[in-house]
Amino acid sequence: MPRPILATVHVDALRHNIERARLAGLDSRVWAVVKANAYGHGIERVFDGFRSADGFALLDLVEAERVRALGWRGPVLLLEGVFEPRDLELCSRLDLWHTVHCDAQIDMLAAHKTQAPQRVFLKMNSGMNRLGFAPSRFRSAWTRLNALPQVDEISLMTHFSDADGARGIAHQLAVFENATRDLPGERTIANSAATLRHATLARGDWVRPGIVLYGSAPDFPEHDAVHWQLQPGMTLATRLLAVQTLQAGDTVGYGSSFTAEGPLRIGVAAVGYADGYPRHCTTGTPVLVNGVRTRMVGRVSMDMITVDLTPVPDADFNSEVTLWGRAANGTLLPIDEVAKAAGTVGYELMCAVAPRVPFAVD
Ligand SMILES: *Cc1c(COP(=O)(O)O)cnc(C)c1O
Repeated sequence: MPRPILATVHVDALRHNIERARLAGLDSRVWAVVKANAYGHGIERVFDGFRSADGFALLDLVEAERVRALGWRGPVLLLEGVFEPRDLELCSRLDLWHTVHCDAQIDMLAAHKTQAPQRVFLKMNSGMNRLGFAPSRFRSAWTRLNALPQVDEISLMTHFSDADGARGIAHQLAVFENATRDLPGERTIANSAATLRHATLARGDWVRPGIVLYGSAPDFPEHDAVHWQLQPGMTLATRLLAVQTLQAGDTVGYGSSFTAEGPLRIGVAAVGYADGYPRHCTTGTPVLVNGVRTRMVGRVSMDMITVDLTPVPDADFNSEVTLWGRAANGTLLPIDEVAKAAGTVGYELMCAVAPRVPFAVD
């Protein structure tokens, strides 16, 4: 028998979450962002849940091929555009729309021999300073693209650095709107956080939610998934493979980082950092045992963690352990809480589930 660890993708939750994003985005069309193999969930596993999307957005060309192989005939957008000239052939063959964020990509388009002109999303760097044309250069890039026979419709795009936080989007939105005021074309500007928090300002023709689709709050801990009415898209669960009884002064695990203050039952669960459970989690990280909330104690090992069984006296060998998501009794443990305990965000935990962990879909 394999180890008891299992990641389960909840298609019903994905369906619920995309409808939440659609409502929050008012009447905008919805790109389901499925980059990084659908934030670690698996493109093939999430596809059914996101069928109501208006398009799929991602950045790896092989992932775009996988979306087409699933039978999706609607829009597919490459969020970073093409990386080399022959990518444009794939864009023609698979009918992919692609972002244009730099001169080199316009040069590739200008040199591309194509039958059918391609739909592009011209990206502005409105302050994030990763991808996109500076506002002062945006118009000339648009003019150059517009003159190319290889280019069909041009849409306009930017990305916010602080939609989830105190700085907000107003400064970037003003830059974008000033520099695009009299340009035609559809707009797409909002990620999850902007869609939930700033929709009236930022919706545009398309919204681009990613993290909310998977049930994580983009602005945790200011708001949690319950506040935004999101459901966990993934459960990571395992079982207890041993129980130990400690006395006062006994320690647990590598480095003896946890010392029992009195008699204590602890469970040893079959999950570790080699499964993608973050080693930065320390004593106190929330865990569910038989659907009852308790805490991790001691350090995360490669293949095991240790948990306090005080609130679950009936727990024993083979008891259910939920690392995040939904326990069998319906109790939820938001991935955002575990991420916070590890000093990171839900995004990273989802993406980091290790290849050795088997997946199921329910
Ligand atoms: C990843 C990404 C998104 C989605 O971001 P979330 O924070 O997950 O909603 C939107 N737009 C672009 C350009 C992205 O790269």
